[in-house]
Amino acid sequence: VRDHHHTPPPAHAVTSPANPTVTNTPVDLLVVGGGLMGLGVAWRCAARGMRVRLLDRGDLGRGASWAAAGMLAPCTEAQFHEDAVYALSAQSQDLWPQFAADVEAASGLSVGFDTCGSIVVALDRDDDAAQRRHFAYQQSLGMQVERLSGAALREREPLLSPKAIAGTWSPVEHQVDNRLLVDALIAACTRAGVALEPHRAVTAVHVGAGQVGGAIGDDGVLRPARAVLIAGGAWSRAIEGLGDVTPPVRPVKGQMLSLATEPRYQLAHVIRSAYGYIAPKADRWVVGATSEDRGFDVRVTAGGVWHLLDGAYRAVPASHELPLLETWAGLRPASRDTGPIMGDCDVRGLYFCTGHYRHGVQMTPASVNGVAACIAGEPAWSTHAPFNARRFAAGAAHG
Ligand SMILES: Cc1cc2nc3c(=O)[nH]c(=O)nc-3n(C[C@H](O)[C@H](O)[C@H](O)COP(=O)(O)OP(=O)(O)OC[C@H]3O[C@@H](n4cnc5c(N)ncnc54)[C@H](O)[C@@H]3O)c2cc1C
Repeated sequence: VRDHHHTPPPAHAVTSPANPTVTNTPVDLLVVGGGLMGLGVAWRCAARGMRVRLLDRGDLGRGASWAAAGMLAPCTEAQFHEDAVYALSAQSQDLWPQFAADVEAASGLSVGFDTCGSIVVALDRDDDAAQRRHFAYQQSLGMQVERLSGAALREREPLLSPKAIAGTWSPVEHQVDNRLLVDALIAACTRAGVALEPHRAVTAVHVGAGQVGGAIGDDGVLRPARAVLIAGGAWSRAIEGLGDVTPPVRPVKGQMLSLATEPRYQLAHVIRSAYGYIAPKADRWVVGATSEDRGFDVRVTAGGVWHLLDGAYRAVPASHELPLLETWAGLRPASRDTGPIMGDCDVRGLYFCTGHYRHGVQMTPASVNGVAACIAGEPAWSTHAPFNARRFAAGAAHG
């Protein structure tokens, strides 16, 4: 017989006459969304002594943050002329070792931080020409990258295709196991006293006289808060009450699959080509990814899987020997200009940390640390200045 008297209440259960799980006392911060961004900021703020509540419309951390490959690739992902994005990425890369250590210490869990480096292979002359142009851009920004011949690449990675004619090696592009990271951040939040409320969507943010008052759940209950953080990933746009700072974020679908590893097939680096990538984790190779504008459709298609297996085979033919473990799809939160949306706005107490598109895992340390500092009233991070939500507001100079 279960002894109900000794069953501890869930961490988030606090009572009020209006709703058994909500108090009328405002929390210092209410976070909308339990992905890497929401969990990360919630943890950093709770660790500063703030009272924090976090709501997620589904299970915690099962959005893009779960679907991702966990590559930390500021050099490979650097796009021509997106220098502000690269400045944020480079800062985040520098912060990664300490961030991983902090999350592991706070949670007692590993995040699978792996300083493996990456190789981008050219499989034909067109690839090679495109890579050389990108390499010149990377060098102009002072990135740690090196061009290697096909033979030199195969010395480092014997499983690479004989068709790899050259490639770019970066020793500073690491990876993390994003699923372990999500679980560790949930544990860190719980330990820091964050009230976690999964399976509760926020329908609207309550704003009065230019000041946030809280957020309304899909149970119709207003949860009072002195500050609200919008970290709803690809769904951020649907939250009502945000007016002209409603984040212009759309979902960009990415299909993925994983292969079970076998001892005779080892990869020492993340391998990328024009056709996809393989991120080798401790127990699996993560193969990605498609990039599709299909709204909120997350079905895995025959064409998607074919594309992924073809891409993996072209770079690493041995991939076809491995058992297929899992297929899935996730939604990248892409803003109108593909840059993240972070920091405060003209509504007092309203903050954002969303729109990280294809780089959200890599940008987690700089984004989370900088937004938590902003909410705590500490000096603003200069790398965040180009990414304020005001840039999209009606009448903004460059909106
Ligand atoms: C296939 C794929 C591969 C990727 N690979 C990489 C990679 O290798 N490296 C990299 O750096 N980045 C990668 N990314 C990008 C990265 O995953 C994202 O940028 C990042 O995870 C975004 O985190 P987030 O917290 O903003 O969003 P999410 O993880 O999607 O979290 C948002 C959360 O908010 C919740 N939510 C939404 N609306 C509401 C609401 N109204 N009320 C309550 N809760 C709500 C959702 O349920 C969800 O849990 C990849 C993405 C995909 C899809």
